[in-house]
Amino acid sequence: MLKKSTFWLILVFGNSVLLAQSIRYEIEPMHQTTESLLDVHAYFKGDQDGITAVSIPAVFGHQRQLQQCIRQFECLTPGVQMQRPPDSPIVLIAHQRGEELILHYQVVQDFEGNAPSFEQALRPVVQDNWFELIGATLFVIPKDWHSFDVQVQWHQIPEHWRLVNSYGVDQMTQQFSANSKRWLESVFAGGDFRVLSGTSQGQSLLLGIRSEGWPAADEDLLQTLLNIRQVQQAYWEEPEDGQPPFTVVVSPLAEVDTTTFHCLGLGLHHAFTAFATPNSALRMQALQHLFQHEMLHEWVGNRIRCGRTPGDMRSGWFSEGFTEYLAYQNMLMAGQIDPDAYLEAINKDFFENLYNSPIGSCSNQTLNEQFFVDANYRQLTYWRGFVLAFYLDNRIKEASHSMKSLRNWMLELQGYYGADPQKSLVSHPDFFQESLSELVGADMDKWLYEHVQQGKLIPETAFVLPANLTLIKASSGFPQFNLNKTVVQWEKMLLW
Ligand SMILES: [Zn+2]
Repeated sequence: MLKKSTFWLILVFGNSVLLAQSIRYEIEPMHQTTESLLDVHAYFKGDQDGITAVSIPAVFGHQRQLQQCIRQFECLTPGVQMQRPPDSPIVLIAHQRGEELILHYQVVQDFEGNAPSFEQALRPVVQDNWFELIGATLFVIPKDWHSFDVQVQWHQIPEHWRLVNSYGVDQMTQQFSANSKRWLESVFAGGDFRVLSGTSQGQSLLLGIRSEGWPAADEDLLQTLLNIRQVQQAYWEEPEDGQPPFTVVVSPLAEVDTTTFHCLGLGLHHAFTAFATPNSALRMQALQHLFQHEMLHEWVGNRIRCGRTPGDMRSGWFSEGFTEYLAYQNMLMAGQIDPDAYLEAINKDFFENLYNSPIGSCSNQTLNEQFFVDANYRQLTYWRGFVLAFYLDNRIKEASHSMKSLRNWMLELQGYYGADPQKSLVSHPDFFQESLSELVGADMDKWLYEHVQQGKLIPETAFVLPANLTLIKASSGFPQFNLNKTVVQWEKMLLW
């Protein structure tokens, strides 16, 4: 009897650890004479031991010092004591055991101007007519929670404003649950956005877009996104129902000059955000490429989790480079690029850049360390991963007599890593290596070590090619490929 009750207690304890804890945020945009801000209150129960550690936004991707955007941080619960070491993103609050806590803070934009520059993108934008923030830069959270029931209440939203975020559109009260902190990989926007929606293969897609001067009308941009979604759903054999809407937020970057455009994006959980300079230099194809790439992160990066956090770039060669390869394949599939331009991109944008780069064979550790520090290493990550994907795609095709391709491996990875959000390429590399070795029909551990970890360039003689591609012996000494259009079904062979 005693044993039974002991067991029962353990069971109850075990469950209580997994139970989601509730937190409610109240957010109100405020406009003061000199600046605009978001005023935030957070309500939740403090830890049972009387000390709650709270995380304040500090780092997200390449953005550092995000705590500069959090002002007036205070705990409004009477009698508590707060300890905040200078510049630390953690605040310790001493309170009565399990006491209800109320936090208050303000989120401000820490740069000048009414839109971010390329370098400032993904920092909080808080203007009098719009705001846009990544969840990780907006929400202060209890540091040790693993499971969240979140409620977000919006207050004093002007009547003409639209609210668009990863969890819905124009809802003044939003509720969602999450089993990890990944709910912070989300976008929250509001203001003079235009919101459009459509459906692709039974899944709905929301587009929030603001400003003028884009290369196509809003409706056409929505249609482009739906086409891309459709191709990608087919690639990943996506089921048609049961998904919440996929959210896309498009907003402007500050213009440098009229002849230059910049664009960048961020793949988030069931959403992405894209920033670009809406001027005449921005071409539709650049946006199509950006949309393809960012939407693919739904699978490569989100379902196939690559690292511990969004800033963990140890598998950046895969999460960025393979995404880039799949983006080009999907552009070809969607008719957004023709076969000649596709091959030119492979030759010039990837092979030539990688093989000519003075840092082209640096180690993966250096790439990881420099990714957010030096743009040269960041670019190299995309080039190297693309070339690795190209090589492996052709190896798998050769080994399977063209019955299989890289796509089969991607689907296997989605099945394994997508089934368990705790598993990533970094925490569980074995499946990644074994499934590849099986498809290629050879042990790939040594190859992966040499060409991924050590960063050695693949010699041009090592490339196995399908019948529609031939290697040009370039005097420059780097691999270049020719498209042989006399081969039967040469065009079909380029597609996945
Ligand atoms: Zn990316």
